[in-house]
Amino acid sequence: LLFKWNIIAFRTVQSYNYFTFIIMKWELMVLGSSSATPTSERNPSAQVLNCGDRLFLIDCGEGTQMQLRKFKVKFQRIDHIFISHLHGDHYLGLAGLLFTYHLLGRKKGLHIYSNPELREIIDLQLKASGTRLLYSLIFHDIPENKALSLFEDKKIGISCFPLLHRVPTHGFTFRQKIAERNLIKEKIADLEIPIQQLATIKKGGDFTDKYGKIHPNSELTTAPPAPRIFAYCSDTGFNPKIVPYIKNASLLYHEATFMHNMRANADEKQHSTTIQAATIAKKAQVNKLLIGHFSARYDELTEVIEETRTVFPDAELAIEGNTYKI
Ligand SMILES: [Zn+2]
Repeated sequence: LLFKWNIIAFRTVQSYNYFTFIIMKWELMVLGSSSATPTSERNPSAQVLNCGDRLFLIDCGEGTQMQLRKFKVKFQRIDHIFISHLHGDHYLGLAGLLFTYHLLGRKKGLHIYSNPELREIIDLQLKASGTRLLYSLIFHDIPENKALSLFEDKKIGISCFPLLHRVPTHGFTFRQKIAERNLIKEKIADLEIPIQQLATIKKGGDFTDKYGKIHPNSELTTAPPAPRIFAYCSDTGFNPKIVPYIKNASLLYHEATFMHNMRANADEKQHSTTIQAATIAKKAQVNKLLIGHFSARYDELTEVIEETRTVFPDAELAIEGNTYKI
């Protein structure tokens, strides 16, 4: 009996190892949820997307580097930064972060995706301070009003699309590319399949055991989950034209600067209300909605989220330091 229990314990541990091996974490951390001006509780816009083995920074409002430190983000792992537009609350923290990377001795190149004017702004700041960065900055210009692919590799595709705002502004989508098959962990443990072969099996390969018997992939795996998609929309007026770009997102971040009684104000400033953000989420049939970019006039956000949920129940508030699974 003792022997049997040992076997079970061994298998359990083995299954746990396989299980942890197959997890690829996709999650979003909010670094700033305020609109134009920061408050004592809320920073301007910035979010960091963790796609398992990589971090992407999206917008970089003032104070973003302090938020990265406060929430213990390993920010040297960020190699790509996406700036939605050149209103100060979305990029004024960038120069500070770039100087810090230099002072920390960064050598790796850093890619920045933004409206073309950002390159001039950063170049002037570097020139005026007599700084020659130790690493290269690689700017990728986003032309006004264009939807295009910005980055692609085996695991992820990142695209931008135009939003409706007072200056050229883009939203971004991050799409997981290869959704790998799910291992049936009991089968994997029973057949004692070596860990080195799991990657091939997750891609659809069969397994040949030591007696030469072929175990087809259909017996070892189940169909993969739908690919994960994160869509980022800030800042924008109500604009159903964006729906095709963000359709079926696992998580949609959409700004909701105002409550709906301030709709006229939102229209004038080309921002959105709670109800408008929720309507876009509903039209795009996303799994979950995250709202942010809150006006400083709202100290307390209970009514803001309650109003959003009247149209789209699965909605959350963007809160500094919180992470959201994708
Ligand atoms: Zn703006």
